[in-house]
Amino acid sequence: MERGRFELLDKPKPTLQDSRDAIVRVTLASICTSDLHIKHGSVPRAVGGITVGHEMVGIVEQVGSDVATVSVGDRVAVNVETFCGECFFCRRGYVNNCTDPDGGWALGCRIDGGQAEYVRVPYADRGLNRIPDTVSDEQALFAGDILATGYWAARISEIAPDDTVLIIGAGPTGICTLLCVMLKRPERIIVCERSPERRRFVREHYPEVEVVGPEKCLAFVRETSPRTGADVVVEAAGGDDTFRLAWECARPNAVVTVVALYDKPQLLPLPDMYGKNLTFKTGGVDGCDGAEILRLIGRGEIDTTSLITHRYPLSRIAEAYDLFESRCDGVIKVAVNCGG
Ligand SMILES: [Zn+2]
Ligand SMILES: [Zn+2]
Repeated sequence: MERGRFELLDKPKPTLQDSRDAIVRVTLASICTSDLHIKHGSVPRAVGGITVGHEMVGIVEQVGSDVATVSVGDRVAVNVETFCGECFFCRRGYVNNCTDPDGGWALGCRIDGGQAEYVRVPYADRGLNRIPDTVSDEQALFAGDILATGYWAARISEIAPDDTVLIIGAGPTGICTLLCVMLKRPERIIVCERSPERRRFVREHYPEVEVVGPEKCLAFVRETSPRTGADVVVEAAGGDDTFRLAWECARPNAVVTVVALYDKPQLLPLPDMYGKNLTFKTGGVDGCDGAEILRLIGRGEIDTTSLITHRYPLSRIAEAYDLFESRCDGVIKVAVNCGG
């Protein structure tokens, strides 16, 4: 893999390397914005030549002797993160910071991932969640990554019933965040999104949500909030000015949760925000709620199927990447049928 270039290649089928591994036959995978970040070299830990893909579902093909929670033939959602479950961080739910050499976001970044026919999943007891029979592959596709991210963002943002929550960005992760924030039932949810097409998507699918463009966002939030700003801001856009917009739209003592992965460093102008007493929460998802997310999908409380706007076979994944990167044709997420 040269920087900026992805290619579909034949690689040997992965094999078990540890008694806690599983091999999963991938049925459906998706392309994530993070894959584009790897392509463009903005994920320093990504290993050259790695098979990308960290958002997929499939069927367990083989398990190591110490795998207890899944069996051969189980339909599973693969977690974006690998975690041991036993280290200091894992025991506190900070699984993104698992100290195991494969801990955190390894799949499709530091070890071969799942835009492929088969994937090896380390620590399979924690990296795989059985998909309930009532949930389809398409319904479960995002459980391990963007939906896990949205769920985590909503969980850490300390949302109260009378809150106004502002979500910046209505891309795939922003919409997943929206769905999970809706489960917390705050008084108001405002979504800020630059693209008119995506603003329309949010209005159509979630009519109870208020939608605004970035140029009007600050004035709108200040004028319509009783406390001169949003009580909670979740920044899921990762644009050039969206971090600034996030803290500017926050009321004093608000929580600002940064979910976005930026291509460039961001400015934290502490003198400008002095006295605002903001709490910033930043980082990568702690993906340890997969089972709960799948239960919520099974109960119909989360439905992300409308995000799948395009479908491709694995053999045409290059076209899928071109489309996803171009953001043409109303694309939000692409499902890639991996043939399993
Ligand atoms: Zn991702
Ligand atoms: Zn750990």
